[in-house]
Amino acid sequence: MKQTLLLLPGDGIGPEVIAEALRICQLVAPDIAVEEALVGGASIDRHGVPLTDETLERASKADAILLGAVGGPKWQGVARQNRPEAGLLGLRKGLDVFANLRPAYCFSSLVDASSLKRDRVEGLDIMIVRELTSGVYFGQPRGVDTDENGNRRGYDTSVYTAPEIERVARVALEIARGRDGRVCSVDKANVMESGQFWRDEVTTVHQTHGEGVELSHMLADSCAMELVREPKQFDVILADNLFGDLLSDAAAMLTGSIGMLPSASLGTEGTPGLFEPVHGSAPDIAGKGIANPCAAILSLEMALRWSLARPDAADRVMGAVARALEAGARTSDLGGTLSTTAMADAIIDCL
Ligand code: NAD
Repeated sequence: MKQTLLLLPGDGIGPEVIAEALRICQLVAPDIAVEEALVGGASIDRHGVPLTDETLERASKADAILLGAVGGPKWQGVARQNRPEAGLLGLRKGLDVFANLRPAYCFSSLVDASSLKRDRVEGLDIMIVRELTSGVYFGQPRGVDTDENGNRRGYDTSVYTAPEIERVARVALEIARGRDGRVCSVDKANVMESGQFWRDEVTTVHQTHGEGVELSHMLADSCAMELVREPKQFDVILADNLFGDLLSDAAAMLTGSIGMLPSASLGTEGTPGLFEPVHGSAPDIAGKGIANPCAAILSLEMALRWSLARPDAADRVMGAVARALEAGARTSDLGGTLSTTAMADAIIDCL
């Protein structure tokens, strides 16, 4: 059966970079049926909501979804639950994509764009697996109210069930098996009950499903320190929603520009993955045709690899991006002068 890729270009530079990813897709996997729908501000403008039921249904029927970015100043006054970002959260929740993969690899030609010294980041290749649909961002109770002494207070609840930990830990173990075979699980077992529970559960999952994979544990604060001290010690980092959020941003910045960073969000096997650049809609450069399309193109690369089972096509895309960078192709965020389209042209020349 024909595979379907649903494009959700979204807002700002989203449509600009997704258009370039589409050109690459048509070259490396021309048989994939490509569809398109609205999300975020673009959907608000047309339908009054950031994500329609129909778009969510089309997304759940696709084999993979490639999203650009959502948001922008135009929709800032809209109520929180109806903002462009709510469309993205609705999509993640609706698709139940619980494992967020954020690679942090350093292209050798971009080593000098890193905030760390060359010897610390040359050859860097980390995969961060972050739990995406539970933990303190979703736990109940949460709120702002007044306690029995009349003091106002704000609170959230950090909570994980054993199945929630098991499914994301198994993704991390599986990914490590295809890499260097090492998972470092991160928590705050020293001060949090839910942290000790996370550690115990990951250890149990490893005993049953971790054959061939070495598991270690690290406190989240130490991990933050180690990421900037000796980042190359890591292979796969497994973290809950909160620590994964913080650590993946820190790790990403070791690799240079935000315009280079892809991500994947995966659910259970057989369900579509959601692939998107880490960057936002960049209103400051939207419409100028200067956005770096690499994050979107590398998100396509992840879609080909993780949801569409096309490792050869994914390898071709990855190789072409690396060769274009080696040949000196650079958008302005990387210190060059190429337009969005010219950068994609340079990558296409290398395919
Ligand atoms: P941003 O990532 O859009 O931009 C941060 C900075 O990086 C800007 O200076 C921008 O020009 C630059 N930049 C980002 N992507 C680039 C690219 N591909 N090439 C070159 N430069 C690039 O973050 P922000 O400014 O904090 O947010 C802008 C809007 O995007 C907000 O509405 C925010 O809510 C939204 N946002 C959406 C997502 C998403 O859709 N996943 C993620 C983050 C922010």
